[in-house]
Amino acid sequence: MNTVHNICINAGYNSISIMKASIKVKLLTGVYMLQTTRSKFSNKHISASCPLYGSEDEDKIHFILKCPNLVSTRKYYIDELKSMLYEIDHDVSVNIVNTDELFIQLILDVTSESMHTNGISVVNSTIQHRGINERILFCITQRKM
Ligand SMILES: [Zn+2]
Repeated sequence: MNTVHNICINAGYNSISIMKASIKVKLLTGVYMLQTTRSKFSNKHISASCPLYGSEDEDKIHFILKCPNLVSTRKYYIDELKSMLYEIDHDVSVNIVNTDELFIQLILDVTSESMHTNGISVVNSTIQHRGINERILFCITQRKM
């Protein structure tokens, strides 16, 4: 299909919105340079360890949800996102929040098919409207620079 992706449609036109959308697209498509990606492309000459927290590999789940050195940066937004989800549909949300792959998918692309099949489509518009996901990703990537 030759359609513009939802992330782009909802990005808005000011430069911060565009930067936020670009971070999201890069993370979603695996182009954002995490240590596991660097390591893979260097034939493991470069370590996959997180530069902020050495004892774990820096993959998407570590970076977005787990890195201990980003807890204070992401906590406010993650808590806001969780409480918003619980308010809309508690049972559906508990399942998503407790499954790293689903929670990451919700943060990166709430419009995706796996979100629909997990019953989260009702919250799409609320999440997108508030822009919480973009703020989570923007803050942690800024902190890492
Ligand atoms: Zn880390």
